[in-house]
Amino acid sequence: RTAMTTPVTYVIIHHTAGAACSSQSSCITQVKNIQNYHMNSNTWCDVGYSFLVGEDGNVYEGRGWTSVGAHAPNYNSDSIGISVMGTFTNINPNTAAQNAVKNLISCGVTKGYIKSAYILKGHRNVSATECPGNTFYNTIKTWPRFQA
Ligand SMILES: [Zn+2]
Repeated sequence: RTAMTTPVTYVIIHHTAGAACSSQSSCITQVKNIQNYHMNSNTWCDVGYSFLVGEDGNVYEGRGWTSVGAHAPNYNSDSIGISVMGTFTNINPNTAAQNAVKNLISCGVTKGYIKSAYILKGHRNVSATECPGNTFYNTIKTWPRFQA
């Protein structure tokens, strides 16, 4: 993994476009499946996201605060990539997952890993992708510091 210079400017929101999970055990299984896919099929050194969030309300660490992720080309070295597990094209992540994302961002700012004047974006704002799903994208547009 490559060390990342912090604090970063961007927070990029994703969905995994896979199955949702609502218990800690099913979310751990999901994280491991995604990690295996990124490492075996994509031949990356680790799961691409900085963090993953489940509808169990927990945050799962991927590359974490201080390693460069593989989730948004051109933005990886100056961003934290947070992916909510599930497909949010027609539904939103539940309140527990949304709150976990917001708390994680606040935590990153407090700890000095994210600039207090950070810019929030959806993956689709920086790459040709549907991610993080239409419904969830419309929600994050209303969150603080969002800029398309
Ligand atoms: Zn994405």
